[in-house]
Amino acid sequence: MSNDSTSAPNFIRNQIREEVDAGKVETIVTRFPPEPNGFLHIGHAKSICLNFGLAEQFGGGCHLRFDDTNPAKEEQAYIDAIKEDVAWLGFQWAGEVRFASDYFGQLYAWAQHLVREGKAYVDDLSPDEIREYRGTLTEPGRPSPYRERSVDENLDLLERMRIGEFAEGEKVLRAKIDMASPNINLRDPILYRIRHASHHQTGDKWKIYPSYDFTHGQSDAIEGVTHSICTLEFEDHRPLYEWFLDNLPVPCKPRQIEFARLNLNYTLTSKRKLKLLVDEGIVDGWDDPRMPTISGMRRRGYTPASIRKFCEMIGVTRADGGLVDIAMLYHAIRADLEDNAPRAMCVLKPLKVVLTNVPADHEEVFEVPGHPARDDMGMRKLPLTREIWIDADDFMEEPPKKFFRLAPGKEVRLRNAYVIRCDEVIKNAAGEIEALHCSVDFDTLGKNPEGRKVKGVIHWVSAAHGVPVEVRLYDNLFQVESPDKDKDTDFLAHLNPESLVTLEGIGEPGLAGVSPETRLQFERVGYFCTDRHACRDGRLVFNRTVGLKDSWAKIQKKD
Ligand code: ATP
Ligand code: MG
Repeated sequence: MSNDSTSAPNFIRNQIREEVDAGKVETIVTRFPPEPNGFLHIGHAKSICLNFGLAEQFGGGCHLRFDDTNPAKEEQAYIDAIKEDVAWLGFQWAGEVRFASDYFGQLYAWAQHLVREGKAYVDDLSPDEIREYRGTLTEPGRPSPYRERSVDENLDLLERMRIGEFAEGEKVLRAKIDMASPNINLRDPILYRIRHASHHQTGDKWKIYPSYDFTHGQSDAIEGVTHSICTLEFEDHRPLYEWFLDNLPVPCKPRQIEFARLNLNYTLTSKRKLKLLVDEGIVDGWDDPRMPTISGMRRRGYTPASIRKFCEMIGVTRADGGLVDIAMLYHAIRADLEDNAPRAMCVLKPLKVVLTNVPADHEEVFEVPGHPARDDMGMRKLPLTREIWIDADDFMEEPPKKFFRLAPGKEVRLRNAYVIRCDEVIKNAAGEIEALHCSVDFDTLGKNPEGRKVKGVIHWVSAAHGVPVEVRLYDNLFQVESPDKDKDTDFLAHLNPESLVTLEGIGEPGLAGVSPETRLQFERVGYFCTDRHACRDGRLVFNRTVGLKDSWAKIQKKD
């Protein structure tokens, strides 16, 4: 049947299970290593669920380590947001939060170690020259003229780099590996660059910063990580990762395992590009509900459980290039909210209906369940008065054949209440519909009308008691499946101009005073969540999380 089971393939989990069963590893240690240069997105969620999930499953631990080797692009605000997102997803890192910068001292000592062993040298070539000397995929590189410096000279220069005697770009420290290697990563990779920048953790202590490659594997080793899980683009770096572990006196040798990154259609998963959307003011910050960031999804109304469920559904493989259908993500949140979100009625495009046979002072309160299948959600009160609002989309003056909602002379049931008939359409001078005059059949509460069938049920709200609400209808931010395909800023051309439509709606009285991050189903309309920020300012703003129609479930049924 459907793929909706919880176990999509996960080759890393299978592999670790085999190792555990065979007694090859006792306690597993994984890590999630973000660079604090942006907010986390749904792709990171995949990595978080994988790393923390494995630690949970096999009784090990997962570290949260900031790979903070690039002070120019990093900020404390990102560190705070990342910690909040990981915790919100429901994961607890083992021990304190760690920073690669905690290991700068050790890394420097190891750099000196390589120099002493004749395996690293200070190079005076400029960045452009280094690139040129490196060669290409088809041509070997050439050795730098500075490659054969003596150990003593290298040690002296490295130390002077560290204390800030040289300008940025004047010198670098490189590993001495193999300029002819078919793997370009092994052609004397850069270990240290000069940067006269303040670092968010180490302040002005360092004038040189280690490269990502020189930092990452050794940090894993220092922390006793057993499985260093990363995305496929690091596969070509693995020989270098291992070269460092083999050539340094590290306390243990973690193993790098690569998996395919998540690519989601209609969605960008690149921090750099997401940052551009924020910086250009195209979205309302990193947590705009249209952003695929974890905080944006949270503000949109996603639950942690739905994101974890989605990550389980997509599985973990090495097959690259696939595009996951965003319908699957919508399916995951819909399934959660179907079971867990209380119901409410809210009219998005209000059309006034006067119930002509209801007296002006009439007030009748219906008690209806908060959720059709959840007694624990209690009852809610729906007052019916002479004037009510219905959704303009539920009325058509000249309806097509299968329109089972309201039309002149036609009947429809008000959800949880009576059947009404539309007797008259009231228009203004411009010919626009101002109101409908309808009459109630009082003999239809909880039962079918005599001698006829009324198929349609519509939602409604008492005009006297309804509360005004702002409703934000969100849709995909991009109109094309792969906005990320072209280089650089081309993705801006594919923005969906209708990704946000704001409406002034009217909700049932119970919506007054709901707290921030309340998730609800507006019956017949979709799932909504109160906006965290607006709610705190005392405004009733509902973000649409997702509509009711489940295209993923349909796709599954067809298979
Ligand atoms: P971006 O390209 O968005 O900047 P990144 O890989 O540079 O992402 P990091 O902060 O270095 O961002 O990522 C932390 C971890 O998350 C890494 O282990 C990385 O492999 C993983 N990760 C990032 N993007 C994805 C993705 N789309 N799918 C799965 N894992 C991802
Ligand atoms: Mg990165």
